[in-house]
Amino acid sequence: MIDHNFSGDAGNTLYEPMGNTTNKILLIEDNPGDARLVEILLMESDLLDCEIEHRMSLGDGIAALQASDDYGAILLDLTLPDSRGFETLERLLAKFPNNNVIVLTGLSDKSLGLKAVQAGAQDFLIKGAFDADSLAKSLRYSIERSNVLQSLEESRERYQSIFNQSRDAIYITDLTGKLIDFNPATAKLFGYTKEELHAIADINQQYQDVDSRNNYLRRLENEGTVTEFPLMAIRKMGERRHCLVSATRIENDEGAAYNCIARDITEQKLTEEMRKARDVARQSAQMKEQFIASISHEMRTPMNAILGMSNLMIQTDLNKEQHEYVSSIKQSSEILLGIVNDILEISTIQNGKVVFEQEDFDLPQLLDNLVNVMQYKIKEKDLYCEVKIDPQLPKFLKGDKLRLNQILYNLVGNAIKFTDNGHVKVYVEQMYMASEQNVHIKFTVEDTGIGIPKDKVDAIFESFTRVRQKDRIFEGTGLGLSIAKNLVEQQGGTIGATSELGTGSKFFFDLTFQIGEEVADITQPPTEVTIDKDTPLRLLLTEDHKMNQIVARKTLEKQWPNIQITIANNGKEAVEKLQEQTFDIILMDIQMPVMDGYEATAHIRNNMPPDIAQLPILAMTAHAHISKDEKFRQYGMDDFVLKPFEPQQLFEKIAHYVNKK
Ligand code: ADP
Repeated sequence: MIDHNFSGDAGNTLYEPMGNTTNKILLIEDNPGDARLVEILLMESDLLDCEIEHRMSLGDGIAALQASDDYGAILLDLTLPDSRGFETLERLLAKFPNNNVIVLTGLSDKSLGLKAVQAGAQDFLIKGAFDADSLAKSLRYSIERSNVLQSLEESRERYQSIFNQSRDAIYITDLTGKLIDFNPATAKLFGYTKEELHAIADINQQYQDVDSRNNYLRRLENEGTVTEFPLMAIRKMGERRHCLVSATRIENDEGAAYNCIARDITEQKLTEEMRKARDVARQSAQMKEQFIASISHEMRTPMNAILGMSNLMIQTDLNKEQHEYVSSIKQSSEILLGIVNDILEISTIQNGKVVFEQEDFDLPQLLDNLVNVMQYKIKEKDLYCEVKIDPQLPKFLKGDKLRLNQILYNLVGNAIKFTDNGHVKVYVEQMYMASEQNVHIKFTVEDTGIGIPKDKVDAIFESFTRVRQKDRIFEGTGLGLSIAKNLVEQQGGTIGATSELGTGSKFFFDLTFQIGEEVADITQPPTEVTIDKDTPLRLLLTEDHKMNQIVARKTLEKQWPNIQITIANNGKEAVEKLQEQTFDIILMDIQMPVMDGYEATAHIRNNMPPDIAQLPILAMTAHAHISKDEKFRQYGMDDFVLKPFEPQQLFEKIAHYVNKK
């Protein structure tokens, strides 16, 4: 056991009785006999332990007081050689107003003694009429009383400073709500001056609403105390402040009153509300993203069927009219797919989820490819197209080339879409070398198309904004420019446009790139499908959607007439089929009932015999962002194909993994 010794800290005690400390008494007395008498009497008494210093004149007395400030009391004879009568006291008190003075008077000067007490002396003693104990008692009372007063004064000052400096409004009211006393924070809380506050009949009327106020007052009246009651203080100018009010009924000399403390928690509440709002915004952004992801999935699945079916149908024997209808269906579903992709894209970008890659690329080649992709449409409309690259620019840059391509594709695509005659030109200029490693580039796409009304130019960068055309309908969602703007700005660049209605438009943006290192020419010829047409490929198709089963089966059978396709409707069935038959490759849908694609893949990889566990597995999903989260790899899938699938891409991936095996 540890023995704790707690000692009281005198600093915290309001007043500590003097106990047996020795007190210094200053005796100012010119009569040696009287002085001696006082000394003897004080020695005799056991009521007071003291030490006496004796001075013969007021001047000497004052000098002693000036030299030392630790006299507990002064015994002052009023009749001294250098001062006589009441004036003696006055002169002393004028210099030392806080000292304890006990006046010694003659028998005939009783009234002088009374007057002295009124003027500030602690007591008076009549010479010859006091004994040892009454002298000691008087001195002791006087010393103790002044100690108490001093402590009280100190503590009063302490509380006063708390009262004045408190950030909480502290105020005292009578039972009708009239302010008796209040601190500066009270005036600040209510927005009134001190004088105005004093004039208010009932401070409680400054709290709203009526019901809350009445509740508060009722509780205070019934229970005598209320803790942290939420009330709304209304300032002079009408501003509202949230408060927590604590109040206690007290009884003092003047009657009953309420001690109140009001804490302004408006800022706290605001921060809290902002935090809540931020949480809600975050949550709703997440929900929106989830919603868009699942909508996109729900739309892509049937579109896979529509696109796939029309792909298959277009290859059958159709008459001209039927061929046109099917082409229309195919085109429309491709547009629809584009829209779904755009919506998904903008939601990802706006949520700040885009990670920009840093890889070396060949700028002239990127622009070449872009024009090549657009070539068909440019020819179709008979437009002149030109790309001008500033010769100062380095050929190789480092940055996100896919995103750059996407931005340019949007702007050039629009330029072609909205231009019937004339040209589309792309200018790439070096604005300045941002540093030795960085170059700042301005891209401009200029067309001679329909143009945009001046007042609409800024708005077209907003999501879903499209300029209405009286006589023509253009395809589009109004998302392209918003995506481009987000992509440019998130990489620290700016984007803008100028346009003249009927004359043409200029779209421009600027971005900073690092200077890159040389990269090999990556324009590869399209990969040949390297599986012989007649190979009896054994494929397990795991897919719960009937239409998509047919599309996949038919598409694959067209490519490889001898292919053997086994269908499993979910992951569990796939595992069963794998135990019964031998396969070369597995196509695995991800979202399926009973057992989903991730689970099934994990099971195959971890729990099945090696020859099965090592089979190539391609995920099939309508979730466009699959490539971004890489989750499919964590579950052991080799690669993915996006639904609706590009037949060629599907064939290539199958061929790649089967040959690799
Ligand atoms: P979308 O092209 O899919 O409608 P965008 O966001 O790319 O969406 O463009 C928004 C709108 O801005 C277009 O609908 C069109 O009205 C206008 N616009 C964009 N580019 C051009 C251009 N080069 N010439 C004329 N109008 C344009």
